[in-house]
Amino acid sequence: MINIVDKKDCCGCSACASICPKNAISMQADALGFLYPQVDKLNCVNCGLCESVCPIINRKKNVEERNTISYVAARNKNKEVLFKSTSGGAFSSFAKLILSQNGMVYGACYNERMEVVHDFACTEEDCEKFIGSKYVQSRMVGLFPHIKKELEQGIPVLFTGTPCQVEAVRKFLRKEYENLFLIDVVCHAVASPKVFQDYVAFAEKKLKSSIISIRMRDKMKYGWGHRTSTAFVLRDGTIVRDPSSLKMWNEIYFSAFVNRPSCNSCLFCNMNRSGDLTIGDFWDDSSCRKDIYSIEGTSLVMVNNERGLRLLNMADSLDCWKLKKNEAIQQNLVHTSQSNCYSERFIDDYLRKGFKYVYLRYVNRSGFRKFLSKIKHFLQRK
Ligand SMILES: Cc1cc2nc3c(=O)[nH]c(=O)nc-3n(C[C@H](O)[C@H](O)[C@H](O)COP(=O)(O)OP(=O)(O)OC[C@H]3O[C@@H](n4cnc5c(N)ncnc54)[C@H](O)[C@@H]3O)c2cc1C
Ligand code: SF4
Ligand code: SF4
Ligand code: SF4
Repeated sequence: MINIVDKKDCCGCSACASICPKNAISMQADALGFLYPQVDKLNCVNCGLCESVCPIINRKKNVEERNTISYVAARNKNKEVLFKSTSGGAFSSFAKLILSQNGMVYGACYNERMEVVHDFACTEEDCEKFIGSKYVQSRMVGLFPHIKKELEQGIPVLFTGTPCQVEAVRKFLRKEYENLFLIDVVCHAVASPKVFQDYVAFAEKKLKSSIISIRMRDKMKYGWGHRTSTAFVLRDGTIVRDPSSLKMWNEIYFSAFVNRPSCNSCLFCNMNRSGDLTIGDFWDDSSCRKDIYSIEGTSLVMVNNERGLRLLNMADSLDCWKLKKNEAIQQNLVHTSQSNCYSERFIDDYLRKGFKYVYLRYVNRSGFRKFLSKIKHFLQRK
């Protein structure tokens, strides 16, 4: 039976809850909105299925490198798609391929409450919701049986997600399917869904409108390399870019204040990839492959097995350049990211004093100083 003693031992994939024949596992959110399994011991029959599908329990430490077949830099030929994508739009090209075979694509999107969730799409139009990195943990609850059903009906399925999510899908299915394609992203960490919800509410107040999408790492102003440029899509369709009144979510994310605990000891930030293909950013700066550089962005594609190679060879909407391994390697293929040394203090303050306090105290420090000087001024006048 699953029993999470240390939070770092659970990535929140929910595979255990989906496989349990007795429905004895429910996924419960902690104070940061991260999901963890809770087992109803009265219903559990100790069958052990939950443990057999867990991507963390079954991931061996010091896993050996798989023989990645090749490394490729890739860029989508469709400029509109390329500009919406985080790097080179490789995801959309593979998704288009699966959809053209009447297949189904799974990925992370915003729902109507601006929560980040995994969902499916069977048209190119609907699949647009998956474009772009959302630097928040996405919720996968309830999806596994859908994926299995479609595979058994012979429908081509492309599942995309973080490496731990991809591994969870593999483990849940427990057998190979010829019609299944898996793509993982090079992964830094995922951040708290609860803090993100508070950020969205805060941003909506500042922008005086509800938000229907946030394009983190927007390319329109500065090109693709900018880590925090953000576009907010409002309910009436207006797009607001980098409003000066607001610090961007990426500043919280990349400061690593609210990473999921499992990310700090991730067993997937290495070269043993769970996907048939791995996609990431190809940081083609001037020291490395100037010939490929474009301000529009470039994806790194790692081809991890023959199935991945088949997919890449069919993706005719991509321009590709072969890379050497040393050109492709980047930080999160080798190291695990670590939380900020002030993370505990940030979380403690957040839980006691709320989002606005930590936003001013840790993120918008100039705002915090202004706030302190206002109080000082007020006290002096009294
Ligand atoms: C949380 C996170 C951390 C990342 N960290 C790194 C990194 O350290 N280094 C690096 O090179 N690349 C990283 N990436 C990958 C990178 O940001 C791009 O997603 C990747 O380069 C593919 O870009 P694209 O242009 O091909 O497609 P895009 O359209 O930009 O990518 C969309 C793909 O990302 C998936 N996705 C988006 N948000 C999430 C989410 N919250 N959870 C699961 N899947 C999601 C979608 O399902 C879809 O498959 C990260 C992505 C995410 C989501
Ligand atoms: S051991 Fe079996 S019955 Fe018990 S929680 Fe796990 S899957 Fe469910
Ligand atoms: S990692 Fe996934 S399968 Fe393992 S305990 Fe956590 S939610 Fe369950
Ligand atoms: S860093 Fe590791 S544990 Fe965290 S989301 Fe990425 S793959 Fe999963």
